[in-house]
Amino acid sequence: MRKLQMVDLGAQYQKIKKDIDQAIQGVIDSSAFINGPEVKNFQSELESYLNVKHVIPCGNGTDALQIALMALDLQPGDEVITADFTFAATVEVIHLLGLKSVLVDVDYDTYLIDPEKIRAAITPKTKAIIPVHLFGQCANMDEIMKIAKEHNLYVVEDTAQAIGAEYKGQKAGTIGTIGTTSFFPSKNLGCYGDGGAIFTNDDALAHKMRGICNHGMYQRYYHDEIGVNSRLDSVQAAILRVKLPHLDDYSKARKKAADFYNEAFADVDALLTPKFAEDTTHVFHQYTMRVTNGKRNELRDFLESKGIPAMIYYPVPLRKQKAYDTGGYQDADFPNTNKLIEEVISLPMHTELDKEQLDFIVSSVKEFFN
Ligand SMILES: *Cc1c(COP(=O)(O)O)cnc(C)c1O
Repeated sequence: MRKLQMVDLGAQYQKIKKDIDQAIQGVIDSSAFINGPEVKNFQSELESYLNVKHVIPCGNGTDALQIALMALDLQPGDEVITADFTFAATVEVIHLLGLKSVLVDVDYDTYLIDPEKIRAAITPKTKAIIPVHLFGQCANMDEIMKIAKEHNLYVVEDTAQAIGAEYKGQKAGTIGTIGTTSFFPSKNLGCYGDGGAIFTNDDALAHKMRGICNHGMYQRYYHDEIGVNSRLDSVQAAILRVKLPHLDDYSKARKKAADFYNEAFADVDALLTPKFAEDTTHVFHQYTMRVTNGKRNELRDFLESKGIPAMIYYPVPLRKQKAYDTGGYQDADFPNTNKLIEEVISLPMHTELDKEQLDFIVSSVKEFFN
């Protein structure tokens, strides 16, 4: 059996090696390392795939979030609502820009931000909502857009874990004011280093974000505002151009593995498999289930002893992270996050899981509970 990994980038590469090697060599031969034709072509190919007017490639998914918030001209102290249960980047950029994060609880079954909790957290200072399409399926965008409209708020969709997912037929990240994503190697559309992108249908915001990515420069050496230096490099763009046409097949392979897990674990009493949210497809960035008998860490150790990696995404709610000044929360307002951090465990999930590996993972999990 091939060695089990959370993500098997090597096996995936072997299948597209010729195209990838040629693409990388092409960039080296052209010497167009920065903003070359590969970046422009990838941009327009991703625009077509997502059916969105503007894609702005940038350095990584965290920059994408930061640039999106910078473009919205928020003032220090303005409030941005997001989920307590997500990767830290979302909250980090809010604080980096002197804004205030307002964290809310997620749904216990789907792990997604709860629109009712968003509604309850709105104050006169609220300016934006960042729904995170966690683990590969979309948050309830109908409800979130409705709330945003009622209160005149921006919506920045963090699509780092859900590129290719669809909410009522629209691609994740193209419904709100702005969408952001990451091409970190282990993401669903990963490059071979760092990369990210921003999406919007708004011409003025697109223009502004292109400028912010490039030192606030709209005309060479004239700086109209403070920007950053955040670019997708041409080698990564060339790699992403090879991988983008495979993305839908990659999503199918992930879904197939997830279906296999779901079916196998349906009769294990102490396990709750991930629930599908309404109106969204699921691209399974992670396969994350819940262990309800208090033995989550024991399961992880047991699997590790069998050579099966398993991860805890995420062990600490963001409101309890040392780095961010997020005082003033009551534990009682976060019943779901509080449970999830104790119960969640993510199994290997990638595009190259074969039957032998899946059988071994499933039988090992079942052995633990028998
Ligand atoms: C990975 C991730 C990011 C950050 O992306 P990077 O490219 O690593 O900066 C942001 N938000 C979420 C939800 C992520 O999973």
